[in-house]
Amino acid sequence: MPSYTAPDYVLKRPRTRIVCTLGPATASDEMIDDLIQAGMSVARLNLSHGSPEDHTEAIARVRERSERAGVAVAVLADLPGPKHRLGSAPDADSGAEIVLEVGQRYMLRDGNGTSTNEVGYVHPPGFVSSTPAGADVLIADGAIRLSVKQARQNEIECEVTVGGPIQSDKAVSAPGHASRISYLTEETGEALAMAASQHVDYVGISYIRSAADVRLVRDFFAARDFHPELIAKIELAESMDNLNAIIDASDGVMVARGDLGVELPIALVPGSQKTIIRRANEVGKVVITATQMLESMINAPTPTRAEVTDVANAILDGTDAIMLSAETSVGQYPAVATAVMAEVALEAEKTLNRREIADRRRTGIQGLDSAIADAAVSTAVSVDAKVILAFTESGSTAGRVAGFRPGVPIIVITPDSAVGRGLALRWGVMVITAPRPRSIDEMFRQGSQIALDSGLVKEKERAVAVIGVPIGVHGSTNLLRVIDLPEPNLES
Ligand code: PGA
Ligand code: MN
Repeated sequence: MPSYTAPDYVLKRPRTRIVCTLGPATASDEMIDDLIQAGMSVARLNLSHGSPEDHTEAIARVRERSERAGVAVAVLADLPGPKHRLGSAPDADSGAEIVLEVGQRYMLRDGNGTSTNEVGYVHPPGFVSSTPAGADVLIADGAIRLSVKQARQNEIECEVTVGGPIQSDKAVSAPGHASRISYLTEETGEALAMAASQHVDYVGISYIRSAADVRLVRDFFAARDFHPELIAKIELAESMDNLNAIIDASDGVMVARGDLGVELPIALVPGSQKTIIRRANEVGKVVITATQMLESMINAPTPTRAEVTDVANAILDGTDAIMLSAETSVGQYPAVATAVMAEVALEAEKTLNRREIADRRRTGIQGLDSAIADAAVSTAVSVDAKVILAFTESGSTAGRVAGFRPGVPIIVITPDSAVGRGLALRWGVMVITAPRPRSIDEMFRQGSQIALDSGLVKEKERAVAVIGVPIGVHGSTNLLRVIDLPEPNLES
């Protein structure tokens, strides 16, 4: 049998997954190669920035380089979501730039008009009617702040509390008063179409308000016969209120601390992170912790102590994945930042309370598959197995095992290379693509050899295997076996 194995740097990776946001700083083959080597499992494209051409080029590059490296790297397309923005405004070069001064009055109206010294226009329409007196309005994520003094039929009258230049297309929001416009804005519609045409693996649903928003996106894609994994970004007070229903409707969730820290009092971010991670762990969905994790590394080759501690604490909280944003999209040290994350993750994982996270999972919904996955993880402990082998057609088996946080690597063996990308956010999973065995005996022998070839386990040691029989049929995991390595060939 030919050898099927992963590059050494993949075997040595942390179990925590790393998501890297791509951008101008990572728009070359060399940079993508460096990120893959440093530990990137998922490449994220923020569809709120950059052109469709930039995004399609980046997606093609990631696919080509990951194929070449023999490492599964998934693509996550992050949607703009139902955001209000300012209409056009004269720019600085025109000499007519509008600069708001603290204490001055400023009106906001619905519409697409050109903003003036007295009135700013906000589109799509609906911002004025959902923003009451007393609300705070943030322009450009809080670079400019207004306080609403009076709300009238067609406009809100505000006082400027933090001044600055008014610029075209800047985001406008009122923390605690989520936008009521349809999730499918024109901007989001274009991004959805692009995600579908590129067949991305994951879609990040920004500014999600309720489970209904997730369903809207799922239905949009289903009508195009496209079924990506949907990651709900928890970044509004309202998404926290509807957390459980949102997680149930999604395939995974993101602790989107950037916006969450603006939309909620910032002191509530750490507790929200723990609540979101705990719930995702309970129901066995993947969770990404995001934003400002190594922020100072945008401009420096080393992180701060606080950042390193934050990365480690997210892992100890039970996150599956950690994310880099500006650090890799526009920063000066994308590969170094990724390598720092990997190093910190490897160390944090040594003291991770895996049992506590498995116990969370046990409180969640159970079924036959979960029972077998749970048993595989505890059997691995009791028979001192060195790896868990998950044979899977769809990837669901391996995902379930990861939810119980085994102390040994999970080697997933699948005939379908797309499965590796579908598992790219799953904690502790390593995927090997190998031909579909013709019999269950051949499957065990194949697994035995792949385990030995990986170097993660030696002859005379043990592996635990989970399989769904009959093989080749998608669906439930129903068989658990302990293999004393190597599996003998009794047929010859
Ligand atoms: P963003 O989402 O980077 O798309 O804003 C993440 C966050 O808000 O933290
Ligand atoms: Mn955000």
